[in-house]
Amino acid sequence: MLDQLELAPPDAILGLTEAFNHDSNSNKINLSVGVYKNEQGVTPILPSVKEAERRILSEESTKSYLPISGLATYSQRVMELLFGADHGLLKAGRAVSVQTPGGTGALRVAADFIKTRLPTNKIWTSAPTWANHPNIFAAAGLEQDSYPYLDPATNGLNLEGMLACIDQMSAGDVILLHGCCHNPSGIDPTADQWKEIASRVQSRGLLPLVDFAYQGFSEGIEQDARGLHAICEQVAEVLIASSYSKNFGLYRERIGALTAVGGDSAAAAAALSHLKACIRCNYSNPPAHGAEIVQTILGDASLRQQWEAELTEMRDRINGMRDLFVKTMKEQAPDRNFEFIRTQRGMFSFSGLTKEQVTQLRDEDSIYIVGSGRINVAGITPANIDQLCSAISKVIS
Ligand code: PMP
Repeated sequence: MLDQLELAPPDAILGLTEAFNHDSNSNKINLSVGVYKNEQGVTPILPSVKEAERRILSEESTKSYLPISGLATYSQRVMELLFGADHGLLKAGRAVSVQTPGGTGALRVAADFIKTRLPTNKIWTSAPTWANHPNIFAAAGLEQDSYPYLDPATNGLNLEGMLACIDQMSAGDVILLHGCCHNPSGIDPTADQWKEIASRVQSRGLLPLVDFAYQGFSEGIEQDARGLHAICEQVAEVLIASSYSKNFGLYRERIGALTAVGGDSAAAAAALSHLKACIRCNYSNPPAHGAEIVQTILGDASLRQQWEAELTEMRDRINGMRDLFVKTMKEQAPDRNFEFIRTQRGMFSFSGLTKEQVTQLRDEDSIYIVGSGRINVAGITPANIDQLCSAISKVIS
């Protein structure tokens, strides 16, 4: 039967990296996949992670299975990172967390949970959204629709369109919100806009699923949880998908978490029992290594301080590249305004490049950008900025 199959199309983002790897041009630049790179263009292992691994390897005594929900201490640390250790939600036992293989694993467990355990079947995502969201939710059998988010005219948030759409959603529908560093646009609501969004979500009776893959990449650990906190202040039930791929640089270790907030501790406990059932028939129980790293770092005051400094360094480098990009584009293409790139946050920006321009950049200059024009700012370095900006100015002129 396999010979009946036609080739499946390559993944929209990871497929580009495959093409990049096959490109023989020694000056090629990959700005497609969302992976942090340092000034040398290398995705480093954080020194805090190396130290945690050293401790884990010298102390580990078994390779037996983890519980279905993962390491209990890890789950506790996840919730403390989301809410702060003294948050009333945690004291009231209203939140539970399960360890998952990456943020993708968390989203898939959430989707299975919604589809099989909740009365709703519908999820709303922003237009645009991360290219893998529709795949994950379709695989779980959810019905999908999108709400306005990006205003292409201003390259800013279309708050009015978003709120008007929320007002049309049915009670019980799930709305996916990007916690910070919106992927792919880099546009986040302000603190006041978050309050407004939270209030509308609450009054429509929606269930928010907050995708939180970049905590610490915008302004800082606590500042980046502003939107999540605004939601939890007004909405009793919330799902949160965390990923530690980016902020701990643990991409290949596949470590994330799904947190469920309920109206009281009994609702949270019931949610946990069902999340475990969803996990058991999927991957049974999670891998240990990434969770051990995260819990070791977050549980040790000096390692945590070191990690926060390393995270700040990554964030500052990305923001520095935003400034350098805007400055260099101003020199190379003074007629075109790229100022919006400076205000966007996180790894990604919508460059405004068209599909044709993106194709031309790949074919003529071996510069790999996702078809939507999304660029991974973390892939820009002082060494490739001139080549990048002169190629872009060539295709837009
Ligand atoms: N959500 C968003 C918005 C993302 O950008 C990503 C990673 N690209 C994920 C979730 C999933 O992250 P992970 O690699 O941890 O599965």
